Amino acid sequence: MTYTIEKVTTLIGARRYGSADANVGFLLTDSRSLCFPEETLFFALKSTRNDGHNYIPELYRRGVRNFVVTDVPAGYAVDYPDANFLKVVNTLEALQRLAERHRDEFNIPIIGITGSNGKTMVKEWLYQLLSPQLYVTRSPRSYNSQIGVPLSVWLMDDNTQVGIFEAGISQPGEMLALRDIIQPTIAVLTNLGDAHQENFSSMEEKCREKLILFHDAQTVVYNEDDAIINKVAGEFNYQGERLCWSLKDSKAPMYVKKIEKKEASSTIHYIYKGGKENRYTIPFIDDASITNSIICAAVALHVGVSAEQLAERMEQLEPIAMRLEVKEGRHGCTLINDSYNSDINSLDIALDFMNRRPDHKGRRRTLILSDIFQSGEEPAELYHEVSDLARKRGVVKFIGIGKVISEYADEIQIAEKFFFESVGAFIHSEVFKSLRDEVILLKGARSFGFDQITELLVQKVHETVLEVNLGAVVKNLNYYRSFMKTETKLVCMIKADAYGAGSVEVAKTLQDHRVDYLAVAVADEGAMLRGNGITSNIMIMNPEMSAFKTMFDYDLEPEVYSFRLLDALVKAAEKEGITGYPVHIKLDTGMHRLGFDPEKDMDELIDRLKHQNAIIPRSVFSHFVGSDDNSFDDFSAHQFQLFDEGSKKLQAAFDHKILRHIDNSAGIEHFPERQLDMCRLGLGLYGINSRNNQIINNVSTLKTTILQLRNVPAGDTVGYSRKGKIDHDSVIAAIPIGYADGLNRHLGNRHCYCLVNGKKAEYVGNICMDVAMIDVTGIDCKEGDSVEIFGDHLPVTVLSDALDTIPYEVLTGISNRVKRVYYQDD
Ligand SMILES: *Cc1c(COP(=O)(O)O)cnc(C)c1O
Repeated sequence: MTYTIEKVTTLIGARRYGSADANVGFLLTDSRSLCFPEETLFFALKSTRNDGHNYIPELYRRGVRNFVVTDVPAGYAVDYPDANFLKVVNTLEALQRLAERHRDEFNIPIIGITGSNGKTMVKEWLYQLLSPQLYVTRSPRSYNSQIGVPLSVWLMDDNTQVGIFEAGISQPGEMLALRDIIQPTIAVLTNLGDAHQENFSSMEEKCREKLILFHDAQTVVYNEDDAIINKVAGEFNYQGERLCWSLKDSKAPMYVKKIEKKEASSTIHYIYKGGKENRYTIPFIDDASITNSIICAAVALHVGVSAEQLAERMEQLEPIAMRLEVKEGRHGCTLINDSYNSDINSLDIALDFMNRRPDHKGRRRTLILSDIFQSGEEPAELYHEVSDLARKRGVVKFIGIGKVISEYADEIQIAEKFFFESVGAFIHSEVFKSLRDEVILLKGARSFGFDQITELLVQKVHETVLEVNLGAVVKNLNYYRSFMKTETKLVCMIKADAYGAGSVEVAKTLQDHRVDYLAVAVADEGAMLRGNGITSNIMIMNPEMSAFKTMFDYDLEPEVYSFRLLDALVKAAEKEGITGYPVHIKLDTGMHRLGFDPEKDMDELIDRLKHQNAIIPRSVFSHFVGSDDNSFDDFSAHQFQLFDEGSKKLQAAFDHKILRHIDNSAGIEHFPERQLDMCRLGLGLYGINSRNNQIINNVSTLKTTILQLRNVPAGDTVGYSRKGKIDHDSVIAAIPIGYADGLNRHLGNRHCYCLVNGKKAEYVGNICMDVAMIDVTGIDCKEGDSVEIFGDHLPVTVLSDALDTIPYEVLTGISNRVKRVYYQDD
């Protein structure tokens, strides 16, 4: 569905500058995701940190001609002759208004889903339940924000028979806007939990805010067994149908009479609107899945799915994978594995992800795609669209797997293309064997068994892996940015292989989020990042005298901390005929590690810098010895004063701006007034708040698996030197991780524990080089089960506390042989 630019102008009440004809099919808020420039309307959104107006010149160069702005560029008629600028007071509101008007075009059931947890699962399962008979448009992944909701609603087109959209809020006042855009005919509240509670005065207040989604809906769906929800929903004057579910109230429209859990499935017996008793079975046993299935059942029955159809489809429900994984493959390939449901909108997001990650040596981009199940759309049209998307996102090789996609091979207009009826046929082909030096996006509907491809393509890994959540890195980045003024710059510390998380993937993520500087320890780390497509500014914290040439060759900016280093650097730069090379001056204000003395060295430093033109100071900085501990506040103040004076002296000697910085992660929070021009974020980025040892958003999870289980009778011992004395009959598991992987030996002999199926299992006896033994007595587990050493459920600080050290040491101690696996969730 497209709109003319005139129509859009009227719908959002804009004033138009420019008169070129145009049709709008795509809305864009993030310049990096541009795909179809000719039909794109760009909304120049302003956030505290960024201003979309800055990207107008670049987007214009790339072919975008239509912009919604608050400020029309001066001289627009000359600089942007064939463009349209739609001027509005608030670009976000204009985006929301346009989506709202688009929504008005549809007289179909629209399901709006809110709640603290389970929104995405309910949305996806409803999709699975309804799509066999209705053409569904839904929010991609979890696009449920003030920007995500309008972009989702915009995806509805002439084919759409039902819309399903999530509405997520984090503070009061947000639901009203989302309600106006979605205008649900059926509004669902999944549940009420603790998320974002800090922004609400009480649970009831949060519930009231969420229930704003219910206003004007014809049907509302909620849990009447929840006292708070029932109270708040009961208070509000609502004329439509209340489709409540309950496990207690036999008069509830969706009465759940009995839940039977078996080993791998649950059967739910229900009575819908006083009819006869029915039941369905789902292939899950956890409570969240059961509750979500009840909500889905109520809604599906309400929109016309029969009890028989429901039972049949419930049995087929698929788990919702939200992960997009990046893995190193064989033969120089990188795999991006998106196990998220296969449909065109999530394909678009995955392609965008692949396209935005820079790649060293410009490796080719390959897409392996299964049949897409999207009822309603003509396959010819669908695969034509897939082809367009893939091409625009830089895919040069296409591998289609499935009967339907093979039949429509002609629609795929990519020169290098191959089709197979099944995964089996593909993995036995020459095409599979010849995959080399490619970035491969794998996107397959579950039933095709794409995991077989991944298994064969991924290098065999040691069972122990460090899983790194790149989405959490971004959340932590934004958490610290929220303490900073918008103009304050940021250095992200990715030294020590990004505190163990792996610097390349972390750097790619940070570059995509436009941090000002990355910092590594030595020149080789910087060169390696350059080789992997990192173009951000890079600072070298411990430059070696032998590596100046590498720094010059790769545009790496060294820290300078002594006269000896300064002289050698100047000499090396002069020899190369370099002038004005940026460096970062370190002052020692009390750490007494490296740096110039701000009280004694400044005059000489300035004098030497002035009498050469090979290098120029780009920034000047110092480091707190104890910003994480209030007991050092006086000393920190003393450090700051020394730094303030020394750095001002340096600045006074030069005309150009020299960036001043001293705050590290803890300082950003604790000394906001000392943020100056720039801050240096380290540990906080990896999710640990060193001030209170709390986890912000966990980034790294170290996992392994049980190799072997054995019964050990009382009186026996476990491990070297008979250290692990067993005093009652026990079950002991061996796990393939030892001190050579970075599992500190001092954790052994019951000094710490890991988690097996959520239960604490202590390390028994001495930890060996490659293996450790744990006590799983009384824990329900078997060989092959996963074990968490630290991570999402066991904070790394538990280990660092047990070892009487800091989390930095535990994280950076994970050895290189432990494979890093990256993923994004959202
Ligand atoms: C490592 C480092 C940081 C980051 O410190 P965190 O406590 O991890 O935030 C900042 N500045 C310098 C000079 C560093 O070496």
